[in-house]
Amino acid sequence: MPQYTPPVRDTRFVLEHVVGLQNFSNLPGFDAATPDVVDAVLEEGGRFVAEVLFPLNQSGDQEGCTRHEDGSVTTPAGFKEAYKRYVESGWATLGNLPEYGGQGMPHVVSTAFQEYMISSNMAFAMYPGLTHGAIAALLAQGSEAQKQMYVPKMVSGEWGGTMNLTEPQCGTDLGLIRTKAEPQADGSYAITGTKIFISAGEHDLTGNIIHLVLAKTPGAPDSSKGISLFVVPKVLVNDDGSLGERNAVTCGSIEHKMGIHANSTCVMNYDGAKGWLVGEEMKGLAAMFIMMNAARLGVGLQGLGIAEVAYQNAVQYAGDRRQGRALTGPQEPNEKADTLFVHPDVRRMLMEAKAWTEGLRALCLWGALQVDLEHHASTDEDREMAGDLVGLLTPVIKGVGTDKAYEVATNAQQVYGGHGYIQEWGMEQYVRDARIAMIYEGTNGVQAMDLVGRKLAQKGGRAVQAFFKIVGEEAAAGKADPATLAIAEALEKALGQMQAATMWFMANGMKNPENVGAGAVPYMHLTGLVAVGLMWLRMAKAATALKASGEGDSAFLDAKLVTARFFAERIMPDAGALRRKIEGGADTVMALPPEMFRAA
Ligand SMILES: Cc1cc2nc3c(=O)[nH]c(=O)nc-3n(C[C@H](O)[C@H](O)[C@H](O)COP(=O)(O)OP(=O)(O)OC[C@H]3O[C@@H](n4cnc5c(N)ncnc54)[C@H](O)[C@@H]3O)c2cc1C
Repeated sequence: MPQYTPPVRDTRFVLEHVVGLQNFSNLPGFDAATPDVVDAVLEEGGRFVAEVLFPLNQSGDQEGCTRHEDGSVTTPAGFKEAYKRYVESGWATLGNLPEYGGQGMPHVVSTAFQEYMISSNMAFAMYPGLTHGAIAALLAQGSEAQKQMYVPKMVSGEWGGTMNLTEPQCGTDLGLIRTKAEPQADGSYAITGTKIFISAGEHDLTGNIIHLVLAKTPGAPDSSKGISLFVVPKVLVNDDGSLGERNAVTCGSIEHKMGIHANSTCVMNYDGAKGWLVGEEMKGLAAMFIMMNAARLGVGLQGLGIAEVAYQNAVQYAGDRRQGRALTGPQEPNEKADTLFVHPDVRRMLMEAKAWTEGLRALCLWGALQVDLEHHASTDEDREMAGDLVGLLTPVIKGVGTDKAYEVATNAQQVYGGHGYIQEWGMEQYVRDARIAMIYEGTNGVQAMDLVGRKLAQKGGRAVQAFFKIVGEEAAAGKADPATLAIAEALEKALGQMQAATMWFMANGMKNPENVGAGAVPYMHLTGLVAVGLMWLRMAKAATALKASGEGDSAFLDAKLVTARFFAERIMPDAGALRRKIEGGADTVMALPPEMFRAA
């Protein structure tokens, strides 16, 4: 049976020393996030997920969801009760706005809690996760009446939310959407079409489900410019807020899939369902992107959550399992064999997992802070800077975070040898669950294209230049201290590789856009190395300062310093190879005609 302990000490270290939560106490929401309150959220939230959600993770995976003849869907045993406890204990409202019934905690604090939820039960965490995305879109684009009608009950957890983009003929290319929205005399629209792969499209956890649906109005252009966003409740809501008639939207079937079995993935049939326009007609994609951006950061966090729990279990197993002897001779001569921990190759896998997981935690939380600052920083300049960083880092946190998390999960499985392949140990579930995060919310290839095709050039390259400046200055300062020299030097080198690769794109992308497409994923990973390298420099700097002042647990701080050096010496050198791949261009990637890929 796998185990999970919320990594509260590490979260606290990151919040204090990388995010610097205490420096923002003048901003809305942050004033309430005193160290005591944050500690209580982490401790109590950690206890809640470990005691209530984690025990349902394996059973939920094995049982899955069930669709019934009438189109209703039941979640696995225990989920309904756990969801009720989640709502009653107030966890649903943590990061939401007080004017809609939320507790108004900073996004960065609720993100820390969400990581714990994901580690304990990713499939469960997706139900409220999608609701949060739908709330974000309604708040940004909905009318005042729509906000009042739907948001408070979604915030409280009484109602759920979904996002309906995908159709059989379109996933990445949303311009191909066929779902139709016909205007009605009463100002509503009749929505007709089929959506597939809709997470949490139907379930038994909430009294209503508020679907946000992309569709096209009559005469709209046959491209992404013709898409509008609609709110379509599963059960129609009366003016007084009570539930009315059932709307004409049903779950046609649920998918049988590789992982996240306890989250229902639905085919949704809209048969003239009543919907209302959200925001402006034909501006639906922009509205949906508000939701997608929040959701993409959430998917990056899913990577982190799974990496953490997989890593924790691999560490436990490596300490219990005895095979062979250390290369330097028996470490425990009284035992028949040493533990797996003595083997450098097992250590390599565990160190890579530790370095990526802790580094990604810092990056996810720093990214979440930027989301807070984008809305609440006190000057226009600070808000713009935070917005630029959110835009630049979102595809990196999603794409690199989930690619690396999958690697961490498979390496954690590898530490178990054959036992990792056996269901009972739980590791194969983590590999299966981690896999989807690389695909949905825009595949990681599409994240990379978003980074190089849109984010790099936006506003004359302002975001990437700001990022270069932050990294360059911190790396230069880090070189002055022998304790941070290794990571600062490695970071400076990797930054140089990223700057050179960026110049190469500028020089060669115009000549042939396929050069950019072929280098996009390596460039995203190069950016990820630099961003996580920056996090390790900050963690090393904080650990050095705490040690010098005699504060903190010195074993924990020493481990931070060693892991920072490991990241510098064993992971950051990949930056050079990534740059070379980018500069290899598209020639060999695109040279072969499709028939040369086929066997016959
Ligand atoms: C379990 C699960 C849950 C999901 N939940 C939801 C949900 O709640 N709501 C929702 O609307 N959708 C959901 N999806 C759909 C998901 O977001 C899409 O599957 C995903 O965006 C990819 O679309 P596609 O499957 O059509 O692949 P395609 O778009 O056909 O892509 C196939 C391949 O081509 C690549 N590709 C395509 N276009 C480009 C391009 N322009 N440049 C570079 N590469 C490209 C892709 O990277 C991919 O490797 C879910 C899917 C799954 C499996």
